[in-house]
Amino acid sequence: MQVSVGFLAVACVLSALRAGEADELQYPPSRIAVVGAGIGGSSAAYFLRQKYGKHIQIDVFEKGEVGGRLATVDMEGHQYEAGGSIVHPLNLHMKTFVKELGLPVKSPGDSRLGIYNGEELVFHESDWFLINLLKMLWNYGFNFLRMYMWVEDMLDKFMRIYRYQTFDYSFSSTESLLHAMGGNDFSTKLNVTIEETMHKAGFSQKFVDDIVSATMRVNYCQGVDINGFVGAVSLSCLDSGLWAVEGGNKLVCSGLIYASKAQLIQGTVTSVQEKVRPMKSGGTVKLYELSYESSTGPQMEMYDIVIIATPLSKGVSDIKFVDFNPPIQNFKNYQQVVATFVHGQINASFFGCAQPCDLSDVLTTNNRKLFFNSIGAVSPVKSEAKSSKPVNHKVWKIFSVEPLAKDQLNLLFESYHAVSVKNWLAYPQYNPPEKMPPIILHDRIYYLNSIELAASAMEMSAISAKNIALLSHHRWYRKTDRIDQEDLTERLKSEL
Ligand SMILES: Cc1cc2nc3c(=O)[nH]c(=O)nc-3n(C[C@H](O)[C@H](O)[C@H](O)COP(=O)(O)OP(=O)(O)OC[C@H]3O[C@@H](n4cnc5c(N)ncnc54)[C@H](O)[C@@H]3O)c2cc1C
Repeated sequence: MQVSVGFLAVACVLSALRAGEADELQYPPSRIAVVGAGIGGSSAAYFLRQKYGKHIQIDVFEKGEVGGRLATVDMEGHQYEAGGSIVHPLNLHMKTFVKELGLPVKSPGDSRLGIYNGEELVFHESDWFLINLLKMLWNYGFNFLRMYMWVEDMLDKFMRIYRYQTFDYSFSSTESLLHAMGGNDFSTKLNVTIEETMHKAGFSQKFVDDIVSATMRVNYCQGVDINGFVGAVSLSCLDSGLWAVEGGNKLVCSGLIYASKAQLIQGTVTSVQEKVRPMKSGGTVKLYELSYESSTGPQMEMYDIVIIATPLSKGVSDIKFVDFNPPIQNFKNYQQVVATFVHGQINASFFGCAQPCDLSDVLTTNNRKLFFNSIGAVSPVKSEAKSSKPVNHKVWKIFSVEPLAKDQLNLLFESYHAVSVKNWLAYPQYNPPEKMPPIILHDRIYYLNSIELAASAMEMSAISAKNIALLSHHRWYRKTDRIDQEDLTERLKSEL
């Protein structure tokens, strides 16, 4: 084991500065650890740098690849998004990141939506706007129109967080953050299913069974029993204007780490333990000892503040929190999702689609016999990458809960010539009423992925990252008037 030279130097400076533990938090922290270099950890490094200034050392630990659940798979020399793939146009942190980093963006392209119930397509979009409109009205009355208005209302409330954060306000729990955004409406949504939420809002059962169910199955590989908040986030993906980063969404993460001037440490964090260290001046200082395994063996470093930016869930991060009282343990289990990429010719007759069939995106309704959740044609992350294969041989991405067997692929495809598979523990298994894990795990240990229990999405991790940068700073400097304030919407009207 080795304690870094940097730490000893910093400890000496601190001991000269600090008169004793009681005054410790009046002085700037000198080292912050961020565990995980996904969009949560990388945006945390970026916001921490903004908030704490240039002198603080920020170390980002990553056991795998920078990007985490933003990752690509290789198919015949081209890269395809295998994890987080699309961003909503009103996700303002993500928008700011790509702007600041100078990353080009692209739209996912046109698709022809079909909804398959295991026997037939219950809904199939056409090329013609008017025909689609008539089909929607015929099948679902005004439910589609009402849903867009319902989602817009939710987004109006959601957008409040950006103003709060601009004015430096932070929240010490995911519940209080969501309550500040959407009041009782958001709090209630966490505790009931999306099905109940939509019934209460007056949507028809047919609309819930076909459209809502299919949207939950493609976005979260779960049913209409997931919580109403994540359900509404999921429905917002039916909006227009969705985008992705040209070259791959993971470029945002590497860009943010570079821009934050954080040190990336390739290693697996194995444990965190609080240590009390004596200082020359006679006082003591409390620090966190972070142990990790790297290619050069076991190591450890000491930090003032630790940010856990990975799910604390069985099989995901496996970090031991030693001697904490109350103990810090794993939270919710994560849902297995398999992304299978196939280059081949889809079997239109399987979907009961008459030839010529222009299917490009098939979602499914809740039918136990179905072995997949969705299948859609995808393009490489680089726009110019073109396939040399015939046009009817597209690359398809299939989401399923279990890996697909060969005979299942033979049902879905007339022929295929390449397959690539990525297995995820993708998002929490939502099961309302949801109790959110704490954001403050211990005095100066913060849990970024608490927010995923409300909804898992890139923007949610970025919002949580900014909240933790602000919260940790306010708590360090005891600026309690910037934490958990009530009626912010009203108060900010008069602050302008
Ligand atoms: C298949 C799929 C599709 C999705 N689609 C979308 C979408 O279209 N739009 C959207 O907004 N969101 C989508 N999401 C969700 C989105 O990808 C996630 O919410 C987001 O990427 C989570 O980011 P994160 O940084 O919080 O966590 P992660 O990306 O999981 O990052 C955590 C990082 O921590 C590292 N780590 C874990 N343990 C340790 C340890 N002990 N030591 C060191 N490092 C450790 C991991 O290797 C990982 O890189 C999708 C997710 C999946 C899986």
